[in-house]
Amino acid sequence: MRYDVIIAGASFAGLAVAAQLRGRRVLILDRKPIGEGQTSACGTLVSTLRALGLEESILQVHDRLVVHTPGRTYVYPMPEPFCTFDYPKLCHLLWSQGKAEFVETPALGVDGQTVITPAGEFTGRFVVDASGWRAALGTSLNSNLVRRDRLNFGIETTPAYRDDGLHFWYDPKGLLPMGITWVFPIGKFSRIGVGSYLGNTRLMSTLNHFLGRLEVEKNGFHGGFFPYQLRDPLIGELFLVGDAAGQCLALTGEGIRPALFFGTRLGRLLRMALDGEITPEEARREYRQLVLRRKGGYDLLTRMQLLLPRAPLVAVQGAFALVALPPVLRRVLDRYIRAFALDETPMPVNVGEGV
Ligand SMILES: Cc1cc2nc3c(=O)[nH]c(=O)nc-3n(C[C@H](O)[C@H](O)[C@H](O)COP(=O)(O)OP(=O)(O)OC[C@H]3O[C@@H](n4cnc5c(N)ncnc54)[C@H](O)[C@@H]3O)c2cc1C
Repeated sequence: MRYDVIIAGASFAGLAVAAQLRGRRVLILDRKPIGEGQTSACGTLVSTLRALGLEESILQVHDRLVVHTPGRTYVYPMPEPFCTFDYPKLCHLLWSQGKAEFVETPALGVDGQTVITPAGEFTGRFVVDASGWRAALGTSLNSNLVRRDRLNFGIETTPAYRDDGLHFWYDPKGLLPMGITWVFPIGKFSRIGVGSYLGNTRLMSTLNHFLGRLEVEKNGFHGGFFPYQLRDPLIGELFLVGDAAGQCLALTGEGIRPALFFGTRLGRLLRMALDGEITPEEARREYRQLVLRRKGGYDLLTRMQLLLPRAPLVAVQGAFALVALPPVLRRVLDRYIRAFALDETPMPVNVGEGV
């Protein structure tokens, strides 16, 4: 059987693409069942989940972000609240919107419009790689796609610990020289983690030390890499989206909103191409433009992350204090939030967004 669209990866990006393609012949491949394999703290904007009809997955709403540094704490009230959500629930909600066919198998590579897996070969008019930072299909076409020096790494655990707000610690001497720790509350529990800006995978002792400071016990753990360098979202005819396209933001490590945003917009473009409203070439051109319009912001965050090791603590604290000033915070958040704002209406093709 020939599919309209084949998507490798059933997480934020892949399921968002499929959600826009209901009624088309869509196949999703994943090495794990849908909703398994959570890697993240699952913090994102309430408005993003609302725009996609996913509010049911919300566990706790947070109207402030708090940054702790040695001796100083900065509180940022959020004009648009963030939330923490239930990963399996969100995946199943998104999945039920698209109702694509699902095969549990790893995608090994792609040859033109054919995806190769241990369960056989599958052919589709369009192929999408949404398989996360490793970009299983993209790397089969370009072995240099994944830059190891452009990967962050993080782990987290979910102990019983109540709080409110999203909390980050930047403490290069007391906790981690090149990274952050966080507490993302989810009701009676919190996702407590540590992330390295150097892609350092030996973080367990830092996590244990941090848990000790908070006087809580570890409760399971998960984690993984997340990229901080935008990649080309197309390799030949192959579309890449989410972490596979390096769309996770540097410095903040926010990758869910970009994955849902670009996944949704790509799904709409593919639907228009399948319905003959635009040509496949126009869909490719428009998708690349959609990503490139945000490249300046991505590059700025990447540069800021790369600068961090050279910046003295007092300079970093100065930057945190500056952003806490209400007019500056409004401006920064407005740009940061608007770059991935989703609305209910389909995107008009060839209309610039000026972001
Ligand atoms: C510890 C940690 C905490 C984080 N916290 C946050 C946060 O709070 N907020 C936020 O916005 N971002 C966070 N991130 C980043 C965020 O998790 C990612 O940017 C986001 O998950 C990217 O979504 P995605 O759909 O592109 O890829 P993923 O969520 O990585 O999904 C990839 C999917 O592809 C599947 N897959 C992999 N290989 C194959 C293959 N060969 N064939 C088929 N399927 C395959 C996987 O099983 C998975 O289902 C965090 C990351 C980490 C590591």
